[in-house]
Amino acid sequence: MSMGMIRCPVHGLTNIMTCCVHVGDAVDENRYEHAQVVIDRSGSHHALCDRCLAQALPQLQAPLEDPLEDGYLALDPSVVPYCDQDVKEWYAATGQGDLSQAISRARVERNR
Ligand SMILES: [Zn+2]
Ligand SMILES: [Zn+2]
Repeated sequence: MSMGMIRCPVHGLTNIMTCCVHVGDAVDENRYEHAQVVIDRSGSHHALCDRCLAQALPQLQAPLEDPLEDGYLALDPSVVPYCDQDVKEWYAATGQGDLSQAISRARVERNR
């Protein structure tokens, strides 16, 4: 599950959902951006736009070779922490469905 907590002005202390900056901007501006949930090699989930997904795919699919590498998704620009309630509400409001289910589906895909 997502690591750490964040203080949201609306929801108080909540869990973190990390997003690429483009999805994060869309959440902030309350506009549509297609978001795909991925599970990185450290087991953390992130919501990425199509461009960042394309950038992330090679490292999501590559085996972890260095045992000291934690496998956390490294994007440029890097993912940013958001209130998971804000992202869930945005995801549903932009017609993309239930974010919790999308995360569960991504985990099933990842473990197959
Ligand atoms: Zn919030
Ligand atoms: Zn992006």
